[in-house]
Amino acid sequence: MKQQFDITVFNGDGIGPEIMAPTLDILAHLSKSGGYSLAFEAVPAGAAHYAQTGESLPDASMDAARKSDAILLSAMGLPTVRYKDGTEISPQIDLRKALTLFAGVRPVRIFPGQKTPLNMPEGKEVDFVLIRESTEGLFHTQGCGEVTKNEARETLLITRDISEKLFTFAFGLAKERKDQGRGEGLVTCVDKANVFRAFAFFREMFDAEAAKHPNLIADHAYVDATALWFVLKPWDFDVLVTENMFGDILSDLGAGLMGGLGVAPSADIGLDHAVFQPCHGSAPDIAGRGIANPMAMILSGAMMLDWLGLRHDAPQLVADGTRLREAVEAVIAAGNILTGDLGGSATTQEAANAVITQLDHA
Ligand code: ATP
Repeated sequence: MKQQFDITVFNGDGIGPEIMAPTLDILAHLSKSGGYSLAFEAVPAGAAHYAQTGESLPDASMDAARKSDAILLSAMGLPTVRYKDGTEISPQIDLRKALTLFAGVRPVRIFPGQKTPLNMPEGKEVDFVLIRESTEGLFHTQGCGEVTKNEARETLLITRDISEKLFTFAFGLAKERKDQGRGEGLVTCVDKANVFRAFAFFREMFDAEAAKHPNLIADHAYVDATALWFVLKPWDFDVLVTENMFGDILSDLGAGLMGGLGVAPSADIGLDHAVFQPCHGSAPDIAGRGIANPMAMILSGAMMLDWLGLRHDAPQLVADGTRLREAVEAVIAAGNILTGDLGGSATTQEAANAVITQLDHA
């Protein structure tokens, strides 16, 4: 059984290094007692690196990422540093494309004690996963759409190759969750198949995959209705799968339901590689003050342990991923050591220390 894992680390820009350092400490702490080893290799990339060197994602960093077992990334990009065409530096999007990370996994959890703008009915919990296709869809012509004086065009691309991989992944995740007692095995395809032929094609491929899983439940929903149900009855969802732009928008709505970006983790997963990073950006408005919420980054680390453990048949890593997620949830639910975005006054380090204390005493 594999017990040694090489992890490429992108410390990133803004609050990136501030939330990454305590996350690596926590992961190292877990691995010590878990009997496996995580070798972290930090590599340069991002806006600050581009400002210094003219390179946003050096080939050597890309090579290291490609060779490693998993990639941890905090946040990259700064509003003040831009390419010549005026767009922001975003190596995280380059990584998704280069490594074909088609499944953007965005868990949404609201548990007792968590801050949420929703009125949660007694006894209800929210625990669903939104899967955003992350390599094509309406992002296909990103950066090269046609704009003339009177018209602008961007092209939406849905391919059989990526869609089939995406739906296989979605039903696989629903099965895993069902096996863990975290869902009823319900997969909802979110589209606009009533209006666009491309989405009828998307849905057809979803239905073909669904037919292979008689023990799971397949459902369909239009994206506009899904936005409504995110607010009115999010506890009914389990796994949702959708196109890139729809997923981009719905995942921020999901982060809002969880009380903000500081607690929203994510993973971008392909067949051979995966990047784990918080949903938020580099938050330059609070960078350098040691007050950023590290929880989204720590929860992304927990997702990495889970993914590595399942992939390499290493149950200790899966168990530690769950332990870490539960420790973060316990700290948030206790409510006395929270960073400013959650209404507290703790520093990044104090919040991370609370997670270690919880791990050691749970
Ligand atoms: P990007 O476009 O790179 O995703 P963004 O424009 O969405 O970035 P963020 O950098 O995510 O912006 O920040 C949005 C707001 O959320 C800012 O006010 C920022 O301070 C806050 N924020 C983001 N992440 C955190 C965090 N980990 N802790 C506390 N506040 C955060």
